[in-house]
Amino acid sequence: MNNYKPTRKTAWRHGRRCVNALAEVLLKAILPSLTIAWMLLLSGCPSPTTPEHVHDYGEWTVTTAAFCLTEGVETRTCSLDASHTETRPIAALPHDMDWVVTTALTSSALGVETHSCQRAGCDHTGETRGYPQMPYIITGSGTSFTAKIDGTTIDDADGAAIADVITAIRSHAGGADIGIQFDDGGTLDIGTERAIFDNANANGDGTWGHITLTGSITSANTGAGHGTIELDDNVTITSTADIFNTSTETDRLSIRIEGTATLNITGGTVEVSGGSAISCGTGTVLNISGGTVKTNTRSAIQVLGTVNISGNALVTGASTTDIGTIWIFGADARVNISGGVVRNTAANDNAKAISIFGSPWGNSNHPDALIITGGTVGAMDEDGNGTIGMAIAISTPSGITISQANPSVPTLITSANTTAGRGTIIVVTADGSPIAINSGRVENTADHANAQSIVAPSDNAAGRVVIEPAAEVEPLPLWMAD
Ligand SMILES: [Zn+2]
Ligand SMILES: [Zn+2]
Repeated sequence: MNNYKPTRKTAWRHGRRCVNALAEVLLKAILPSLTIAWMLLLSGCPSPTTPEHVHDYGEWTVTTAAFCLTEGVETRTCSLDASHTETRPIAALPHDMDWVVTTALTSSALGVETHSCQRAGCDHTGETRGYPQMPYIITGSGTSFTAKIDGTTIDDADGAAIADVITAIRSHAGGADIGIQFDDGGTLDIGTERAIFDNANANGDGTWGHITLTGSITSANTGAGHGTIELDDNVTITSTADIFNTSTETDRLSIRIEGTATLNITGGTVEVSGGSAISCGTGTVLNISGGTVKTNTRSAIQVLGTVNISGNALVTGASTTDIGTIWIFGADARVNISGGVVRNTAANDNAKAISIFGSPWGNSNHPDALIITGGTVGAMDEDGNGTIGMAIAISTPSGITISQANPSVPTLITSANTTAGRGTIIVVTADGSPIAINSGRVENTADHANAQSIVAPSDNAAGRVVIEPAAEVEPLPLWMAD
């Protein structure tokens, strides 16, 4: 044994002097095999009870395939001893989801599609939706309207009154989220009727899922406070439709929102000839992120609920009365503007983009009645040039906050008002919640001795108007000017 001088090979095989052996391996294979050498070092010396060879693993082979949400296993085996194996996981597969028609469309009911996994052996299913994914199309005129989907005329909606056709669609849809298109490329004229979306359920006709409106619809309905479209009973609608009311009466509407309904306008034009384009009732929500809401003589939006204006919405009017393009009244009325344009285009010193005052339906007294964080509110023409009206007129205790939230969406309150005692913003009542101008810009662009940015009672003696240093107010109000 004393003379025993193991060769490198035997030393390795017997697990002796393995450090030396490793060092030799490193030296002789240093450049091409550095990685292998490191692996050997890191794997440590074989202990006397473990096999005394360098494993010679073959290719990885799949021993258990991965499946939906379940890892698989790969194994490789040492060619020198098949009992030496290594395993590693195979990443789990996501479900292979696709929509599959599970119930066909009939004249009495919308079909159903189910989102389900297409991998053999997996029975995972997700949500369902109506089938087909295309709108109901309402056509007709007078008292004879028809609703079809994918060419199928639905039951009770063939030559029926518009109210019956809408009820028939609600029943047919069975609560699915659906689209409704008014007319097939033209404008659906419902005469003096209304298209009412509610969940009145006396006939067991089900309730609405989410409704998406497209196309074009008009009426000249005759009932006070009636709209061409009406929402009630918690219905939610998203619309890019063009919706008109051509009546010249001052109490007609294009859209009336009641109950706790929600209307999202993302495009299209909502326009009224004589009354208000949209009435937003107490407890309702109106979100306008695109499209145009237009009135000619009264308010574009009369607000008792909550109105959110953002994106590239245009809310425009030309009223010359105390009713502004947006008219905020009622104890719970709130308007939040984070983008878009609200304007009054009338070249009239009584024109108002936003008016906040009382009414027969209640006096606005919410501390956050109007919050502007971006967008333009102005007495201005269609080219954006200031006119002699007012941007905001407030004659209630309600509070207003104007600030600049996002530099890319400037907050601009503007007019070119030249009437003594008026301004871009006029505050009529001395007492109430603060009129806080925290940041953003309030301007009067008129080059005129009477041009004022903000007018408050008794030169703001009650201190209701609070202007923070970050706000740009030009010209400064008289009580602040030198
Ligand atoms: Zn081995
Ligand atoms: Zn699956």
